[in-house]
Amino acid sequence: EIEAAKLDKKTQKSKEMYARAQKHLAGGVASSYQLRDPWPIYLEGGSGPRVWDVDGNEMWDFHNGFGSMVQGHANPIIGKAIADRYPKGTHFAAPTEDAIVVGDELARRWNLPKWRFTNSGSESTMDAIRIARAYAGRDTVMKIFGSYHGHHDTVMVSIGVPYGEIGDKDDLKSLPYGAGIPDATVQMTVAVPFNDADAMERRIVALDKEGRKPACVIMEAAMMNLGVVLPEPGYLEAVREITKKHGIVLIFDEVKTGLQVAPGGATELFGVLPDMVTLAKGLGAGLPTGAIGGTEEVMSVVEDGSVYQVGTYNGNPLGVAAMRANLLDVLTPDAYKHLAHLNDRIVGGCQDVVDKYDLPGYAVGIGSKGCVTFAPEKVVDYASYKEHQNGPLADLAWLYNMNRGIFMTPGREEEWTLSITHTDEAIDAFVAVFDEMARDLTT
Ligand code: PLP
Repeated sequence: EIEAAKLDKKTQKSKEMYARAQKHLAGGVASSYQLRDPWPIYLEGGSGPRVWDVDGNEMWDFHNGFGSMVQGHANPIIGKAIADRYPKGTHFAAPTEDAIVVGDELARRWNLPKWRFTNSGSESTMDAIRIARAYAGRDTVMKIFGSYHGHHDTVMVSIGVPYGEIGDKDDLKSLPYGAGIPDATVQMTVAVPFNDADAMERRIVALDKEGRKPACVIMEAAMMNLGVVLPEPGYLEAVREITKKHGIVLIFDEVKTGLQVAPGGATELFGVLPDMVTLAKGLGAGLPTGAIGGTEEVMSVVEDGSVYQVGTYNGNPLGVAAMRANLLDVLTPDAYKHLAHLNDRIVGGCQDVVDKYDLPGYAVGIGSKGCVTFAPEKVVDYASYKEHQNGPLADLAWLYNMNRGIFMTPGREEEWTLSITHTDEAIDAFVAVFDEMARDLTT
């Protein structure tokens, strides 16, 4: 309560803006994920690893646009690419050369030969699923219970449990995530637990018997919305094996892992090649861009014209110019080395605090992403997250951060994202705030 009151006091201009916004913005925001109690923090600007809000509070940014700004705010190389493109026109709905260069580079990084562009992560997963359904000639989609893959109907299923119990691990329920999703669509998506290849195999066999074999499995190689949940050794290899055996398209949703964890994303990091990948955040350096990559076989349904993978703004010149500069000149191998150095330091620093004060939790991270999971037992899937996560401690950590110059994602299930402009100083500031909270809690 003390920390909440402190934050309220220093964000009074945000409060006023929120009141103003209620008039014509539904709920006072542009997207429901921007809401937080009692009001959202309105930002004014950002530069490199820093952001500042309308009240003049300046902070280290560990939110980074839900992980999109891995190149840092107002990156001058991206700025130049956009500024050079603008006077030559920003939209034609006709191809430009930059799209070819970006396609070549993504193919090189992901070892998948065929690419298309979209404008967001949701569009990427929506189109990838349609392509997989067309290729496999089946309708059912398999996902991991608890995973978020964007806001289209097929994947707004079995993410959280506002509407009921999750069910037995061999028969997890298909639950809508929010209202307005047709039940017929919800029932076409089937969820299985993360880190349990046997459960996946059993469910596929059961569905096959019912004549509902899945067209695809869509999953993150490491779950990124329960904090960070890493795949257990051998899990991804087993999933690859199972999907291949059953003729099911394996889609790695790399919207959060992609450019943020390694040059070739989680695919490179874990060494398991899916049939398709979806990208967005981190790809366009803050511009609304996305991409889908796939094998020759799967993408043949796009090439032969049977699937319409379309969009007025796909391959938008401004977007592809930003992607090109981002991939070729900003997110270089050295940039990933720097991120690895920083992440080792922040994960190590936070784990030291956990150990020093004997907190119920652990620090975990890959690439630019990581978190402290406040749970006495290791979280391996949604059920263990639900059972063990200490929500109030996660909420308190957010307030401590905000009150001490660390801007973080608002949800309990979110993680930090570092940018290549972060420094040891930023990391030390983060760890120091965590230490302060732990000390206050335990003394
Ligand atoms: N897939 C994953 C793994 C995500 O985390 C998200 C967004 O958080 C999406 C897809 C949807 O991306 P967008 O919000 O750009 O539509």
